[in-house]
Amino acid sequence: MYIPEEKISEILNTSDIVDVISESVILKKSGRNFFGLCPFHSEKTPSFSVNANKQIFHCFGCSAGGNVLSYVMKYHGISFPEAAKMLAFKHNITIEAQIDSPAKKKEYQIKESLFRLNKTVMGFFFDELKSSKQGETARKYLINRGISDDTIEQFKLGFSSDNWDVIVKVLKELKISRKVAVQSGLVLERKQKSGYYDRFRNRIMFPIFDINMQVAGFGGRVMDDSMPKYMNSPETPVYNKSRILYGLHASKQHCRQEGLVYIVEGYFDFLSLYQHGIKNTVASLGTALTSDHVRILKGYAPKMILVFDSDAAGINAAKRSIKIFMKEGVDTRILVLPEGNDPDSYVVKHGQEAFNELALNAKTVMQFLLQVSIDTHGLSVEGRIRILEDMRQHLILIQDSALRSLYVKELAETLNIDEKAVLEKVRELYLNHPEKRSSLMNDKKDEDVLESDRREEQIISIMLNYPEIIDEIVNTDVLDYFYSEKLKRIGKKILRVDPKKEAFITTVMAKIEKNEDQELIASYAMNDFFLEEDIHQKALSLINRIIRVRKKQENTLTSKIICAEKGCDSDLMELLKQKQAEIRQLHDQ
Ligand SMILES: [Zn+2]
Repeated sequence: MYIPEEKISEILNTSDIVDVISESVILKKSGRNFFGLCPFHSEKTPSFSVNANKQIFHCFGCSAGGNVLSYVMKYHGISFPEAAKMLAFKHNITIEAQIDSPAKKKEYQIKESLFRLNKTVMGFFFDELKSSKQGETARKYLINRGISDDTIEQFKLGFSSDNWDVIVKVLKELKISRKVAVQSGLVLERKQKSGYYDRFRNRIMFPIFDINMQVAGFGGRVMDDSMPKYMNSPETPVYNKSRILYGLHASKQHCRQEGLVYIVEGYFDFLSLYQHGIKNTVASLGTALTSDHVRILKGYAPKMILVFDSDAAGINAAKRSIKIFMKEGVDTRILVLPEGNDPDSYVVKHGQEAFNELALNAKTVMQFLLQVSIDTHGLSVEGRIRILEDMRQHLILIQDSALRSLYVKELAETLNIDEKAVLEKVRELYLNHPEKRSSLMNDKKDEDVLESDRREEQIISIMLNYPEIIDEIVNTDVLDYFYSEKLKRIGKKILRVDPKKEAFITTVMAKIEKNEDQELIASYAMNDFFLEEDIHQKALSLINRIIRVRKKQENTLTSKIICAEKGCDSDLMELLKQKQAEIRQLHDQ
C-alpha cells in the first residue's frame, strides 16, 4: 500500500510528537527537550528524549529514535501505512490508499481475500464448537483442560468436524475461487480423483492472529492420541511462520508493561498461562524460533524467559533456541519446569504466584548450558574435562569481555579447576577462530580514524539542524571524501530533500526506510552541541578539514604503493594494500 507523499507531509505537519508520545510516556520538560522513561528498554532514570522543535525522539540508552511515524510504528508494532492511517484518522485527514504497481495491487488483493476467507472460516469453526452436535466432544475436551468460556471467546477457538468436505462446501457457497481456496491451505486437492478435501478434520481449531488482529492461519489439535497431534496451516501469502508468534496480538501491551515476555511452545501452554493472569506470554508453536521472532519481541520487552518441559525434547529445544538469542544480544533466561510438568499443567496445579516465583529463579543461558553439560558428563575428572570443552565453545560467543570473565570464574569454581587454566583454554579456542580473532584485533580504533568519524558525524548533524548550509555540502562534494560509507549514504539521502522544506528533519526521516538509519538520524539531529558557535564558519572549517585529511592520506598511501610497485617490494605492497583496506573497514563499522 502506498500513501502519497503530500499526505505524509500533512500528517507530519499536523501531528505533534509531544502530544502523541505523551499518550504512552510521562514526559517532563528539561531544557530544550522533554524527558521520560523509555518505552523501548527498561530503565529507572529517564534517557528517552523528545524535541518539540525538531519533532523527533531519541533514547540515549537504547538508541531508539525517529519521527512521530516511527514512534507509532515501533510502539504499536505496526507497519508504516498503518501508522500513517492511525495518525491521519486522529487528525481527520482522509487518505486514500494508492497501490503503486499492478503486481503490488494483485498481491494486496490476494492478501485481502485470504484474510477475509480466514475470518469467515474462523467464525464457522467457532459456531461448530459452540453449537454443533459433533462439537460436543470438543466442548467437553476444553472443559477438561480447564479452558474457560471467556478464553474460548477471546481467542475464538473452534472445532473442525470429521467430515471431509465441510470447508470445501463452505468455500463453494461463498463462491471462493479454487485458486484462493487452495492458497489458503484450508483445502487440499485430491490426488487420485478430481475435487478437494478439508485439511483440518476432527480437531480443536486455534486461529492464529497476526499483530493487527487479522487471521493469518490456523492450528488444529486432535483430542485423542492420533497423529499428528498438531497441524498448522502451511505458509501462505498472509502466514509467515518465521514472523508470527501465537498470542502476541493479545499479549503485546502486557509484555511492554512487564518488560518481560515468556516464550512457551504450545497453544494450551499459552492459553493456560494467559488465563491464569500471566498475560505477557507468546507461543512459538513448535516451529524453531528465528531471529525475526526475537527481533519482533525485542520491540515489546527487553527480557525474555524461555519456558521448557524438563524432558529431553524440551532441553534440546532450549539448546537449539539459545544461539539465536545470544546472537541477538537479548537478556534471556531459561526456565526448565520441575520434572513431569509443562507450563499448562504447572500453572493449573500451582497457580500464577507459584509460576512467577519459579520464574524468578530462571537460569541464565550459561548456567543452563552448564547444568545440561554436568547432567550429561557427570563431575568425574573425565567428565569435568568434557564439560570444559563444551563450555568453552559457548563462552567464546559472548561479546562482552567483562561478562565472559565472570562466567569463566563461575565455571572454574563449579569444576574446581584453576581459573587461569580455564581462561587459557578459552583463549586458545578464541585464537583458532579466525572470525573471533579479527573482532578482537579490531577492538581498538585508530585515533585518527576516530577524529575523522567525529568530523563526519558533525557534518551530518549540521546538515540536519541547519539545512541552509546544504549548498556548501553540494558545492564542495564533501560527502565523497567521507571515510564512513554509512555516513556518506545518510548524507546523500539528506541531499534528496529540499532544504527549504518545512519540518526538514522529519521529512528526511520519512524518506528513510531502514529503521537503523532513522535511529542514527534522530541521534545526529539531537546533537546540537555547536549551537552557540557561528555555524557557517564551523561547517566550512569541518568541510575543509575532511577534504584535506582524506587527500593527504590517500596521497601518502598511494605514493608509497606506487613506489613499492616500482621497486617490486611485494611484501611492503601487500601490507600497504591491507592497511588501506583496513582503514576503510574501520570507518564503515
Ligand atoms: Zn530506550
